[in-house]
Amino acid sequence: EPILEVRDLVKHYPLTQGIVIKKQIGTVKAVDGVSFDLAAGETLGIVGESGCGKSTVAKMLVHLEQPTAGAIKYKGEDITRLSGRALKAVRRNIQMVFQDPYTSLNPRMTVGDIIGEPYEIHPEVAPKGERRRKVQDLLDVVGLNPEYINRYPHQFSGGQRQRIGIARGLALNPEIIVADEPVSALDVSVQAQVVNLLDRLQAEFGLAYVFIAHDLSIVRHISDRVGVMYLGRIVEIGSDEQIYEHP
Ligand code: ADP
Ligand code: ADP
Repeated sequence: EPILEVRDLVKHYPLTQGIVIKKQIGTVKAVDGVSFDLAAGETLGIVGESGCGKSTVAKMLVHLEQPTAGAIKYKGEDITRLSGRALKAVRRNIQMVFQDPYTSLNPRMTVGDIIGEPYEIHPEVAPKGERRRKVQDLLDVVGLNPEYINRYPHQFSGGQRQRIGIARGLALNPEIIVADEPVSALDVSVQAQVVNLLDRLQAEFGLAYVFIAHDLSIVRHISDRVGVMYLGRIVEIGSDEQIYEHP
């Protein structure tokens, strides 16, 4: 029984011209019929060149974009049709790690406030009195010194910032993490460290990953299956070996 069933997902963006008065001159078919299953604890890699629709799929999975058509079933329930409390409960379980930790972390917030921010929306996960302790535990889990809790993002390296982004993604104890090119913005020298961290966290917390990358070499070692996207579609999906057999 898959934890996530994505069926015929479509996203069209209006293509507009003009800055003040926007005139629609066409449609961008960013995602054009994407289907896949994700099992609990599994890692599905999604690879494809820039512009093929990977990020748009990621955003629809965490409800940052609304699909034009199709279904996203979480434990059998189509979450694209949920709203209010039911949607909020589902979103808690599907968290995103963003591509660029230089832009995704608010520079005016301390690391403690950044990692603890999800508790403002979901106070039931951690009462106010326990949050500082929880955030310190999360810092430790991602390999950062818990004493850094009052520092600001600019005081960290790129790899450390992405660890902060990962800690934020873990704050609500999700079942699924959608990682949208989580190492693409990092120095090549630290990319493997961050991938290894994600791999270790998966084993520790039983997480399922949708792991997006533009390059198969980044995801092949940690993915159970890989989907190859091209022009808004998954054109091939299977194990690393299967993908290599049919280039
Ligand atoms: P990828 O993550 O694979 O680089 P994206 O999902 O970011 O691809 O983009 C897919 C296509 O949709 C691209 O042609 C991109 O220009 C377009 N696109 C993405 N976001 C928007 C948007 N908000 N408005 C209009 N077009 C968009
Ligand atoms: P809205 O009510 O406008 O949909 P939310 O409060 O749900 O806004 O989300 C606010 C911001 O929190 C989003 O713009 C996004 O950056 C971030 N966010 C929302 N959901 C997630 C998620 N599942 N994983 C990571 N960040 C998220």
